[in-house]
Amino acid sequence: MTISSTIAQQNEAFRGGINRSVKSRKEHLNRLKNLISEHEKALSDAVKKDFGKPYSEAYVTEIYTVLQEIDLHLKHLENWMKPKNTGSAIVTFPSKNYVIRQPYGAVLVISPWNYPIHLALMPVIGALSAGNTVVLKPSELSPNTSALLRKLLHQEFDPKLLSVFEGEADTVQELLKQPFDKIFFTGSTRVGKIVMKAAAEQLIPVTLELGGKSPAIVHKDANTDVAARRIWWGKTINAGQTCVAPDFVLVHESLAKSFTEESKKALDLFFKKGLKAGENYTQIVNKDHFDRLNNLLKNSEIILGGKSNRKTRIIEPTLIRADWDDEIMQDEIFGPLLPVITYSDEETIIRNLQKRPSPLALYLFTDDSHFQNSVIDHVPFGGGCINDTIVHLGNHNLPFGGVGQSGMGAYHGQYSFEAFSRPQSILKKPFWPDPDFRYPPYDETKMTWFKRLFTRN
Ligand code: NAD
Repeated sequence: MTISSTIAQQNEAFRGGINRSVKSRKEHLNRLKNLISEHEKALSDAVKKDFGKPYSEAYVTEIYTVLQEIDLHLKHLENWMKPKNTGSAIVTFPSKNYVIRQPYGAVLVISPWNYPIHLALMPVIGALSAGNTVVLKPSELSPNTSALLRKLLHQEFDPKLLSVFEGEADTVQELLKQPFDKIFFTGSTRVGKIVMKAAAEQLIPVTLELGGKSPAIVHKDANTDVAARRIWWGKTINAGQTCVAPDFVLVHESLAKSFTEESKKALDLFFKKGLKAGENYTQIVNKDHFDRLNNLLKNSEIILGGKSNRKTRIIEPTLIRADWDDEIMQDEIFGPLLPVITYSDEETIIRNLQKRPSPLALYLFTDDSHFQNSVIDHVPFGGGCINDTIVHLGNHNLPFGGVGQSGMGAYHGQYSFEAFSRPQSILKKPFWPDPDFRYPPYDETKMTWFKRLFTRN
């Protein structure tokens, strides 16, 4: 089926109520759940084939999280769908007032390669749960996973409800010309701008889940042992190819030496058997990204690590001494290189962070609540953790999304249901009473009464 005929059929199926009732939504979510559970091994193998992601990582970050999300939607969907009563305004008395969450219609989900199951299916779950039909465009850079997703989803679902189109930028361009009712994009800030521009042509609402340079700050009171372990844990999952990976670290000068020592201990602990693609470590996705990271590596002052192998596309986790103006501090790294900048003055780092594009995440290692509040209140970022990295994504009660250059809108759990539905207001009146008072002509007596009854002082 062509792209345009699929969207036309989805529009019609949406109007016909293909995914309208709570029963049909739950049935679709259950079918998705069973499909993933049944093919969990094949899906993990596909990700391993694409970029050597070990099974343990694939299971936790791709399969488990998606199954958990489906269970959460199944449990709460009925409640989320219920019309929510609101109070009445004095001028609308007597009336019943409520808000219904209405699905948008046919939605387009565009996903990146780095968590190719998770980032394709998490939005699909939200879209189905909220009552929409979906077209999914997975990434061409994870071809094995994208092809398997397409095969499995097409086996299980009517394309009028859920359809997958593989392809590159030209496929996205073609999709962006279609009359979708909502677009959900996850990927780079550069492509996010292309998507938003195209959506603006048709006034299609967008959610943009983008990237950025997420800082970790290790303040003077921090426990460097735990901080180093948790930062390197966040940096080495998926070999640093994670949108919320700590991109760089700001370490208080009094802890610089100990942070390096603890980093060495953490990395020795994690990878004492060496780095083995597909077993305990992930490859860089392709040669282009390997070369980009290797160039950064070559131009940097290495403190720890530094080995790389183009043939296996493995780059060792590497700690780098850096300054704000260095090349490695300009764009999102998206790899296992960790620049560290030392600081002495808290205000200077806050000012430096304020001057940069707002990141998707920020991680703060300190128990000093004054410092915590001053960073949180003065540096805009999507979301983050105090004394940890990345784990805020593991709680579906927290909205996940960026701000400014790192995106707009948020999802996960109930926030996904809301991202894929719109609030529709209804005011319901009885036929009686129907006083003359509200109708023209509006003479002086009516105005006097209006002011007396409705104006508060
Ligand atoms: P990308 O922007 O290159 O690709 C994302 C999608 O856009 C793919 O499906 C791709 O086919 C499509 N695309 C690529 N070029 C295009 C073009 N010129 N026109 C139209 N469509 C195009 O991103 P990526 O390399 O797959 O992923 C890495 C980026 O995504 C990083 O910046 C990362 O931070 C970000 N990311 C964000 C999140 C999040 O949840 N906020 C999650 C993962 C990745």
